[in-house]
Amino acid sequence: MNLILLGPPGAGKGTQADRLREDFGVPHIATGNMLRAEIAEGTELGEQAKRYMDAGELVPDEVIVEMITRRIEDADAADGFLLDGFPRNEQQASSLDEAFERLERRLTAALLIMVADEEVVRRLSGRRVCVKNPSHVYHVELDPPKHEGVCDQDGSRLVQREDDREATIRRRLEIYHAQTEPLLAHYDRAGLLRRFDGQRSPEEVHAHIRATVATLRLEETL
Ligand code: AMP
Repeated sequence: MNLILLGPPGAGKGTQADRLREDFGVPHIATGNMLRAEIAEGTELGEQAKRYMDAGELVPDEVIVEMITRRIEDADAADGFLLDGFPRNEQQASSLDEAFERLERRLTAALLIMVADEEVVRRLSGRRVCVKNPSHVYHVELDPPKHEGVCDQDGSRLVQREDDREATIRRRLEIYHAQTEPLLAHYDRAGLLRRFDGQRSPEEVHAHIRATVATLRLEETL
């Protein structure tokens, strides 16, 4: 069960990945989270990545490809994984194809969550995250905390991610359309692309993806 999640920023890939991890027991490997952890730890890699991320630009391929190809060889990913945020351009997609070949594995499916640009802007510009634990996520309109600016779960301050400012969101969307969207044809040609309507509720999106992945898993065992 080697899966990748595709879709624009703010499509809900992280939310769905958390649920699928619980359903199918595959690790969720999210490049954005890995990079943010490097920044929080103050590593050299984090320092290099931060200025690209704050500007909404892609971090250079060498850094990301090395990080991911090492991660998918970890013991917990031996039976499969769910990649989120990678690949994001042609170069990364071919590096992933090569890694699969080297490891004698293959991609089970590419799951695409589709959301319109204006919805992405609405979702991301209202997103607020906990300063202590960035997986505690809120939205000023859609999912507000009980007390404005304060995390319900641990009382910490809520902040806006630097790259969730409107101009940066628009830049991230531009990059998605120019560099990541062309990959859809690559996976579609290989018969691996599955599309989901990301404008539906998180529960509905989850039900659809779970049903598809369960069928794929069944097919793998046949
Ligand atoms: P995300 O959390 O997936 O929205 O990623 C946040 C930021 O991390 C992106 O805007 C990029 O700057 C960087 N990033 C994450 N994944 C990649 C990738 N595969 N290639 C290049 N940059 C990435």
